[in-house]
Amino acid sequence: MPATALSNLVFDHRFIRKLPGDPVQENYRRQVRNCCYSRVSPTPVSAPTIIGWSAEMAATLGLAPEAEAHNETVQILSGSAVPECLAPFAMRYGGHQFGNWAGQLGDGRAIILGETISPQSGRWVLQLKGAGPTPYSRTADGLAVLRSSVREFLCSEAMFHLGVPTTRALSLVTTGESVLRDMFYDGNPEMEPGAVVCRVSPSFTRFGNFQIHATMQEYDLLASLVDYTITTDFPELGPPSPEVREEWFRQVCIRTADLMTHWMRTGFVHGVMNTDNMSILGLTIDYGPYGWLEDFDTNWTPNTTDASGRRYCYGRQPSIALWNLLQLANSLTSLFDDSKPLQNGLDEYTRHFNQQCLKMMKSKIGLQESESERSQQLAEALPELLQSASADMTLFYRKLADLSLVPDKSETSLPPCNDSTLDQFAEVLYDPKNLNSDTQSQILAWIRDYQAELQRCGVIDSSRKLSMNAVNPRFVLRNYLAQMAIDRAEQGDPSLIAKLLDVLRHPYEDQPENEQYGQKRPEWARDKAGCSMLSCSS
Ligand code: AMP
Ligand code: MG
Repeated sequence: MPATALSNLVFDHRFIRKLPGDPVQENYRRQVRNCCYSRVSPTPVSAPTIIGWSAEMAATLGLAPEAEAHNETVQILSGSAVPECLAPFAMRYGGHQFGNWAGQLGDGRAIILGETISPQSGRWVLQLKGAGPTPYSRTADGLAVLRSSVREFLCSEAMFHLGVPTTRALSLVTTGESVLRDMFYDGNPEMEPGAVVCRVSPSFTRFGNFQIHATMQEYDLLASLVDYTITTDFPELGPPSPEVREEWFRQVCIRTADLMTHWMRTGFVHGVMNTDNMSILGLTIDYGPYGWLEDFDTNWTPNTTDASGRRYCYGRQPSIALWNLLQLANSLTSLFDDSKPLQNGLDEYTRHFNQQCLKMMKSKIGLQESESERSQQLAEALPELLQSASADMTLFYRKLADLSLVPDKSETSLPPCNDSTLDQFAEVLYDPKNLNSDTQSQILAWIRDYQAELQRCGVIDSSRKLSMNAVNPRFVLRNYLAQMAIDRAEQGDPSLIAKLLDVLRHPYEDQPENEQYGQKRPEWARDKAGCSMLSCSS
C-alpha cells in the first residue's frame, strides 16, 4: 500500500549508522575533522508552499498521490518539521574547484533528511537544498533562491525522462522568506524569494567525500567510506577486498564515461564540473549554471564565471571528467600497493568513452549498426558543420531524421539532394541568411555522402527516423523556457513549472500541441540574464 504521508515510509539511516559522525553537536561554521558528516537540523520557515511536485518520484518512493496535500508534507519538505523517523545531517567533503584544491566544502546548504527504503525501488536518500546553514556553510547563508531552485527541480526530472543518469527532485517549496543575492556579482544585491528543493538519490556521495579524507590523512576513514560505498551502492561487486576495490574504481570510471556520453548526446553543459560536483554513482548532480547547446558551439559554456577560461565548456566535459577521476584516483592511492589498479581504471575511462561516444554519434544519425569507416567519418564530421552553420543542436537532428533520403520502397529512385534540401534546414539555423556558400556546399556534400552511406547500409527512411528520434530529443529544458517559468513563478504564478514538467516527461515524442516549447531560442533571449549566460549565484 502506498504511504499517504512521508513519515509512513520505511526509514533506514545507514550512512550515519555505519560511518563516524562529528562529535561537535552545535551548528556553527568550522573545519570539521575525522568524520564523514555532521548532525544538523534544518531551519524552519514562515510560509512554506509546495509549487512543484514530481508525481513519478513520489510514486517511486512509495508515496500515494494524497501525500502531496498531507499537511506534514510541506512542513517536512521545507525543513520546518523533523519527525522522529528522520535523522538530518550534512555531509563532509572537499573538492577541486576550477582546477585548484579548495579544502573543506561540504553540504553548506544541503541537509539530508534520511534514507528510505522502498520495497519496489530500493534505497533513496532525501535531501533538502536551501534549508539553512550547516557547519559547512563557510561565509554563505545556507539558503537557495527561487530561480535556481526552479532550475534544479525541473532539470533533475527532465534529465531523468531523457534517460540521463541524475539525482532526482521530489518537490519545490517556496519558503515565504526573502534571500539576499548579488545575482550579477556587481555590487547590487537584491532580495529574492527563497525556496527549498527536495532532492532524491540513491546516494549523494561525491568524489570530494573521498578527497577530504585523503588530504587530511584520515586513511582509516577513507577505507571505511570506500567499503561502505561498495557495500551499499555497488553490492553486485561483492564484499570489499583489494580486487573488489579495484573493480569498484573501474566501475566509477565506466559510469562517468557513460554520463559524459549522455551529456554530449543531449547537448547538456553542466557548467561547474568541480570534483565536489561529481557523483560517485555517475549521476548528474548539482544543477547550477547549466545549459543546453542551442546554436551548436563546442566552446560554449553558460557559466559567466567560466567565460574567460571555458574550462567547463561543452567540448571539454569528457576530458575534465577524466581529470576529475585522476584527482579521485590520487585520493585513493593509500588503498593500493601501487598505482596500477587505479591507472587501469583511468585507461578504461578513455577506452570506454571513446567506444561509447562513437556509438552514440553514429546513433544520432541512424547509423548505429554500421561498422564502416565511412559511417564513422560521417558521424565525426557533422558537429563541425553544425557549428559553422550556427544550427540549433536539438532541432537539427530532428530535422535530419525527417529528410527523405532512402525511401522505404526499394523500386523508388533516391530523392535528389539540392538547394531545396538545404532550404529545409533554414528554420533550425540561427542566421540562415548569412550562411556562407562554403558551409552550404559542405553541408550539401555531407548530406549526399550520408545518403549514399544510408543506401549502402540498407537504412530506409522510416526505420532511420524511429531510431534517430529515440536518441535525439525533441524537447529539452532550454534556458529561456526555464527563465520564463521562473519569471512567472516570481510573480506568483507557478503554472508554467508544471506545464514544462509535463512536456519534458516525453522529450522524444513529437507533441504538436506543445510545439511552442520546442522552438529555437527567440531573439529576445539571446543576451537576457538566465537565458544564455548564468552566474553561480543561487
Ligand atoms: P556549488 O558551486 O554550488 O557546488 O557549491 C560549492 C560549495 O559552496 C558547496 O560546499 C556548497 O554547499 C557551498 N554553497 C553554495 N551556496 C551556498 C549557500 N548559499 N550557503 C552555504 N553554502 C553554499
Ligand atoms: Mg556543489
